[in-house]
Amino acid sequence: MTDATTTPGGNAQWRDRYAGAIMNTFGTPSRVLVRGSGARVWDADGTEYLDLLAGIAVNCLGHAHPAIVEAVSTQLATLGHVSNFFTTPAQVRLAEELIALTLPGAEPGASRVFLANSGTEANEGALKIARRHGGASRPRVLALEQAFHGRTMGALAMTHKAAYREPFEPLPGGIEFVPAGDVTALRDAMGPDVAALIVEPIQGEAGVRPLPDGYLEAARAMTRDAGALLIIDEVQTGMGRAGAWMAHHLLAPGIVPDVVTLAKGLGGGMPIGAVVATGQAAELLGPGQHGTTFGGNPVAASAALAVIATLRSEGLLERTGSLGERWASELAQVPGVTATRGLGLLIGVALDPAVGPASAVAEDLAQAGFIVNAPRPDTLRLAPPLILSDEDADAFTAALAALLAARLAGAPEGAAITGHHD
Ligand SMILES: *Cc1c(COP(=O)(O)O)cnc(C)c1O
Repeated sequence: MTDATTTPGGNAQWRDRYAGAIMNTFGTPSRVLVRGSGARVWDADGTEYLDLLAGIAVNCLGHAHPAIVEAVSTQLATLGHVSNFFTTPAQVRLAEELIALTLPGAEPGASRVFLANSGTEANEGALKIARRHGGASRPRVLALEQAFHGRTMGALAMTHKAAYREPFEPLPGGIEFVPAGDVTALRDAMGPDVAALIVEPIQGEAGVRPLPDGYLEAARAMTRDAGALLIIDEVQTGMGRAGAWMAHHLLAPGIVPDVVTLAKGLGGGMPIGAVVATGQAAELLGPGQHGTTFGGNPVAASAALAVIATLRSEGLLERTGSLGERWASELAQVPGVTATRGLGLLIGVALDPAVGPASAVAEDLAQAGFIVNAPRPDTLRLAPPLILSDEDADAFTAALAALLAARLAGAPEGAAITGHHD
C-alpha cells in the first residue's frame, strides 16, 4: 500500500543515491524513512513500522508531537539563531530547568550548564572540565570497559571499543579503562592523580547493562576521597528514559555527581546536548575556554523546554517506569529470550544463541513491521518513544514470541520473505 505522502522513488532508488552521495560510515541503510507520527514511521515504499528504537532513545515523545512542532515553529518564526554573543529567554529557562531536574540534591545556586549540540560534544565539555580540575597534578581520567561516550576525539578516547578508537590514535592521553561494575578494581585505580571518573549508569551501546547496586555510591565516595570529579553520562539514560529524570536517581538516589552530560532525548529529535555541573566543577571553564556557535540556540532550547513540559504534564516518567517494568518481565518469559536488562523504556533483550544472531532477529522484526536494533550479537535493544501504548508493546511481545518460536523450530520467518533482503 502506498501512502499519499510517499516521496517519489522507493527504498531501492534512494539507497542507490545514498551510496553515491553519503560517506560509508554507517553502511547503506536498507530503509528510507519519509514520515513519522506518534510511535509509527513509514518508509519510501509506503510500509508502516512501529518504531521501538526512536532514533536511538531520541524521539521520547514519538514523531511529530504537537508540543515540539508548536514550540519549534513558534521559536523559529520569532528568532531562530543569535550566537553566544547574545542570550535568549529559552536558553536561560532551559538551563534553570536542567539544573533542577538533573542535580536536585546539589547545593542551591551552585550549578551551571553549558549547552552543546550532541552527546559527544557534551562529553568533550566534561573532559575539558576534568582537564581543568587539578591540571598537571591530575593527568589521569578513568572510564569503564565497554563504555561508549561518543565519536569526537576526546569522547572517543573515553570510549572502550578498540575498533572505534585505534584507527584514530594518537588520541588525547591519560585515559584508563577499569572493568565496569568492579568496586575493587576502581579502588585500585583511584588516587590523588585522578582528575575524574566517567560512567554511564546503564551502558547502552554495550547491550543495556546497568551498573550493579552500590557501584555508583562507591564511585561517589572514592572520587570524593581522592578529590576527583564524578561525571555521569546520562546521554542515553536521562530525560525520563529510565522512568525518572535521570537513571542515577533510581540506581543511586543519595548521590550528587559533579557533572552530568545529556543529549539524545533532551531535544525530542532536535539536536541538543548539555553539560550540567555543580560546585567547583561548574566554575572550571572560564571565559574563552570553551565555546560553540550553535549550542544553546533558541530553537533547540525551545524543543527541550517542550519535551520537559510534556514529560511532566503527561505523567510520562511514571508511565515509563510502570510500562517498562511490566513489558520487560513479560519479554523475559518469551521462549528464546534468556533475560531482560535495563530500566524503564531502555530494555536489553538477551537472546538464546539457538535463535541465531540478534542482527538477524532484528531484520526479521523489521520485516514484520517493528524497528529495534542489536547493539550486541546476543542482545536486542528497545528504546521506544515514552508515549508507547500498552497495545503496541503487547503487539511487539506477540510478534517476537512468534518469530523466536519459528527460529527455535528451525524455520526462520525471514527466510520465507526474500524480497526485502539486501
Ligand atoms: C549516543 C551516546 C553518546 C554520543 O552521543 P551523540 O549525540 O551521538 O554524539 C554519548 N554517550 C552515550 C552514553 C550515548 O549513548
